Amino acid sequence: MKIPSQYTPQNFCLKCVGCCRFSSVRSKWSPYFLPEEIKLFKKRGIPLSLRPKTKKAKLIFSKDYCFCPFFDPEKNRCTVYRLRPLDCTLYPFLLEEKREKVYLAVDKNCSYIAEQFGTREFKAYLGKLFRFLKQPKVAGYIRKNRRIIGNLTEKSVVSLVRLPFLEK
Ligand code: SF4
Repeated sequence: MKIPSQYTPQNFCLKCVGCCRFSSVRSKWSPYFLPEEIKLFKKRGIPLSLRPKTKKAKLIFSKDYCFCPFFDPEKNRCTVYRLRPLDCTLYPFLLEEKREKVYLAVDKNCSYIAEQFGTREFKAYLGKLFRFLKQPKVAGYIRKNRRIIGNLTEKSVVSLVRLPFLEK
C-alpha cells in the first residue's frame, strides 16, 4: 500500500502562503529527510544540505521569513515536489510523541484542515493514513528513523489517533 496522496489539494496549497516558510532558521518544522530520501537526492545529483544531528533541511534566511532550500518563493512552489520527503507528503498530518506515546496528529494552522476537520472525508483519509502507517514494513522503517516523529508543542497541533505500533 502506497502512502495516500497528500490530503490538501494542490490548487489549494498553491494559493496559500503558509507552508515551506518558517519563523526561524532553526525551526523544528523544517523538513526531515529519511536515509532513503537522502540516497535518492544523491543519486539524482540534487544538493541537499542537512543539519548533521537532526537530518532536517538547513533553512534559508530572508528578511521576511526563513524558507526551505527547495522552495521557490517567487512561484510559491516546491522545486522537488515529486521527490519531496515523507515528512512533507504527510503534512498537514504529522507524527508526534507525547509522554512516550506516539500519535497521528494534524496541524490546524493549515487552512484546508481548518475547513475540513471532522468531516467524513477527513475521517476517511485518517483511516487510510493509519492503515498505511500500520503496515509492518512502514512501521518498522519509521521506528528505525524516529526523528520523523516530532515533539511539537504548538497549540495548532491536535493529536488524533494513538499509534502504539510506532512506540519504543
Ligand atoms: S521539500 Fe518542498 S514541500 Fe517540503 S518544505 Fe521544502 S519546498 Fe516545501
